[in-house]
Amino acid sequence: MDHQAPPPPHVLIFPLPFQGPVNCMLKLAELLSAAGLHVTFLVTHHIRHRLLRHSPIQTHFSRYPNFQLVSISDGLPEDHPRLGDQCMELFDALESVTKPLYRQMLTSGGTQKPVNCIIADGILGFAIDIAKEIGMPIISFRTISPCFIWVVFCLPKLIESGEIPFRDNDLDSMITSVPGMENFLRKRDLPSFCRSGDVTDPFIRLFSTESQLSPRADGLILNTFEDLEGPLLSHIRTLCPNLYAIGPLHGHLKSRLAVASPPSSGSFRQEDRTCLAWLDQQPPKSVLYVSFGSLATITKDQLMEFWCGLVNSGKRFLWVIRSDCLGSGGDSERQIPAELQEGTKERGYIVDWAPQVEVLAHSSVGGFLTHSGWNSTLESLFEGVPMICWPSFVDQQVNSRFVGEVWGLGLDMKDTCDRVIVEKMVRDLMEERRDEFERSANRMADLARRSVTEGGLSFQDLDRLIQDIRSMSL
Ligand code: UDP
Repeated sequence: MDHQAPPPPHVLIFPLPFQGPVNCMLKLAELLSAAGLHVTFLVTHHIRHRLLRHSPIQTHFSRYPNFQLVSISDGLPEDHPRLGDQCMELFDALESVTKPLYRQMLTSGGTQKPVNCIIADGILGFAIDIAKEIGMPIISFRTISPCFIWVVFCLPKLIESGEIPFRDNDLDSMITSVPGMENFLRKRDLPSFCRSGDVTDPFIRLFSTESQLSPRADGLILNTFEDLEGPLLSHIRTLCPNLYAIGPLHGHLKSRLAVASPPSSGSFRQEDRTCLAWLDQQPPKSVLYVSFGSLATITKDQLMEFWCGLVNSGKRFLWVIRSDCLGSGGDSERQIPAELQEGTKERGYIVDWAPQVEVLAHSSVGGFLTHSGWNSTLESLFEGVPMICWPSFVDQQVNSRFVGEVWGLGLDMKDTCDRVIVEKMVRDLMEERRDEFERSANRMADLARRSVTEGGLSFQDLDRLIQDIRSMSL
C-alpha cells in the first residue's frame, strides 16, 4: 500500500498592523516555515506596501516556498498617520472594514489552501469571534509584555476596588489589586490609559474586552521566558491554561536557524546601515543607543532636553530620530532642529531608522535609552545591554517598572524629561553604576539564551506549539 505523508498544516498568521507586532510575528512565521509548515502572513495593504518597499522580506523569505504574504484593507486612506492619538481610528476601521473582509476571505477559500489553524494578535478580538463561528482552531499571540497582559486581565478588579479611575494625583501610591505586583506597582506604573480618569476611555474598553476574549482562544503565545516572568505566567495560566512562553523569539533564529545577526526582515522604514560602520570606530561599550520605537511621538522641547542631556553627559550616542517623531503638528513644529544635527557630530550619530537588533549586538554599545516597548526590551535584554527607560504609552509604563525595580536591568526615568536628569542617568548607567547593571544584564542575557537553546523551556514550548499545530491538521 502507498502510505503518503499527510500534507503540512497551513497556518494563517494575522498580526496587529504595527511595527512591533509585525516584526515579532514575522519571526514566528519564519520559524514555522523553517519547520516545514505552510504559512500565510496576513497584513493590511498599507503594511504590505511598506514591507515590500523597505524590508528584504521578499529575498529573505524566498528560501521558504511554503510562505506567502497576503494583504487586506484596513479601511484608512494611505496617508493616514496611524500613529499616536490617531491609533484609535485604526482600531475602529479594523472592526468595521477589515472584519467582514477577513470573514469572507476565510469562508470563501480566499487563501488558496484551506487553513488549519489561525494565529492572530490577541487584541484582534474579531479574529477569535470568527474562528469560533466557523469552527477553526485559533491561538492568540500577544506580542506585548506579559506583565502588561496580567495588569489588563486585572482591569475589572482595579475598577471594582476603586483603584482606577484615580481619586487623587498621588502617582506614587501603591496598587493592591494586581496579584503578584503588590510590592512594587505604583499608580504611575499602570498602563498610560489608566490616567484618563474615565473608565469608559476607549483604550480601557478595548483592553477589557480583550481580557474577556483571550481565554476563549485555544492557546495563548507570549514572547517571554519562564526565568524572566515565571510567577506572572502562573497567574496568567489560571485564565489561559494552554500557554506557550516561547521568547525571546528573535533568539530562536540565532540558535535554531544559526542566523548570526538576523536581518530585520520586517522593517517598515529604510534602515540606515552607515551607523554600523560608525559603531565599528568607537571603543567597546562606549556608546549609548537611543530610540523611542516606531510609534511614540515627542515634543520639540523634549527632544531638546534629551539632546542637551546627552551632549552634557560627555558620552557617545547613536540616536534614532524618526522623521515623524515630532507628531502631526504644523510644518515648523515637525522640523528636527538643524543645530541638533550639527552639534551632535563630535560624539554622536543620528539616523532615521537603525538595524536595531544588530546595533544592540554591537560590541561598542554599552547602554540603551529606550521607550520600553516590549520588543526593544527583549532585544536589549538578550544582548545584555542595560537600559534607561522613558516610557510613553500602553505597556511601556509597567515594562519600565520591571526593568528598574524587579529585574535590576537599568533605570526608570518615567514622567520626567529634564536635561539635568538625562545627563545624570546617562552617567550613572554608563559609568557610576555600570558594573552593577552589567552584572544583572549579563546574568539575564545568559538565562534568555539558554531558554532558546535545545533543552531550554522556550525551545521546548516552541516545539510543543509546532506539534500542536500539526495535530490540528490530522
Ligand atoms: N526598530 C528598528 N529600528 C529602529 C527602531 C526600532 O528595527 O530604529 C525595531 C525594534 O528592533 C523593535 C521594533 O522596531 O523590534 C519596535 O518594537 P517595540 O515593541 O520595541 O516598540 P513599538 O515600536 O511597538 O512602540
